[in-house]
Amino acid sequence: MFVGNFGKVFNVLEDKFGRRFHYLRLSITDVCNFSCEYCLPDGYQCDSDRNFLTVDEIRTIASTFASLGTSKIRITGGEPSLRKDLPQIIKICTQTPGIEQVAITTNGYRLPQHIHSWAEAGLTSLNVSVDSLDPRMFQSITGQDKLDTILAGIDLALELGIKVKVNGVLMRQYNANDLQQFLDWITDKPITFRLIELMQTGDNVSFFQANHVAGEPIKQTLLQSGWTQVIRDKASGPAQEFTHPQYQGNIGLIMPYSKDFCASCNRLRVSATGKLHLCLFADKGLDIRPYIQSGDDNGLANQLQALLGDKEASHWLDKGMTGATKHLAMLGG
Ligand code: SAM
Ligand code: SF4
Repeated sequence: MFVGNFGKVFNVLEDKFGRRFHYLRLSITDVCNFSCEYCLPDGYQCDSDRNFLTVDEIRTIASTFASLGTSKIRITGGEPSLRKDLPQIIKICTQTPGIEQVAITTNGYRLPQHIHSWAEAGLTSLNVSVDSLDPRMFQSITGQDKLDTILAGIDLALELGIKVKVNGVLMRQYNANDLQQFLDWITDKPITFRLIELMQTGDNVSFFQANHVAGEPIKQTLLQSGWTQVIRDKASGPAQEFTHPQYQGNIGLIMPYSKDFCASCNRLRVSATGKLHLCLFADKGLDIRPYIQSGDDNGLANQLQALLGDKEASHWLDKGMTGATKHLAMLGG
């Protein structure tokens, strides 16, 4: 429990390890139009239930999580911008009392066309995936010749005052030597460029073995060249962030294989079909849809607190355990 303004008592989502969950990652579709080598190399296969959460159901999820202390919602997918009602979904989240930050993770394929409506709906921050700043390399990773459009969309988002983070998955055979190019790009851009260690999933085992690169040596390179680590706040994502006086942008490193990565876990996930995932690599999603469908906020809140009891200390990825996660499009990264 915590005591808020005017002495009101709230329950909070806290697990048996004392971790508190202020941050919800909400997937709204698992469909995607890109075919990233590490995620959906053969493109989206329509082999799963597509009965995705409705706008009313998303309203129930947002208000219940907010009543339990969640202050940040990240909308993800699949590719969330494939849903035509995305601006409405953003607005529902931004208008939920207690939700202070609403973010989206997107491949940005039509970012210049979309960004104004997202900004009007109150989006506070945008994560865009850019694995390479070389158009040909970008196309060979994602299957799409869209880099210029995406970069133009990022510039527009910055002009509109939206906080921008860029995600690049580190891959030995593609971009492992591109650090300098990424650094040059953020010299005059107030964005955070986050380098993500490739994660093993059920479907990408041989790709993972050929391409995984550890982030730690990059961290050491940054520290030796004048970058300093920034302190995290309670709703921060999993990145370690670094700043440098000569760069407008920051660098982030997401190192899920590093020791104690899970100790600072502050996020829970709900899939596009209304299942609670206690971890990105949990064995299964837990069905909370009946409470969501009936708009039963109290029942949902009680169920969330009960299910949280089973959250494990670690994702066990270092032991090669990837749970039920075939690829991250199933749930959002
Ligand atoms: N389609 C959107 C996008 O690509 O930004 C949102 C969903 S995507 C699953 C979310 C993030 O997960 C992206 O930044 C993507 O690069 C990252 N991702 C996907 N598969 C990954 C993997 N196996 N290891 C590390 N990051 C991964
Ligand atoms: Fe689609 Fe995102 Fe997966 Fe790429 S990483 S295939 S854009 S869901």
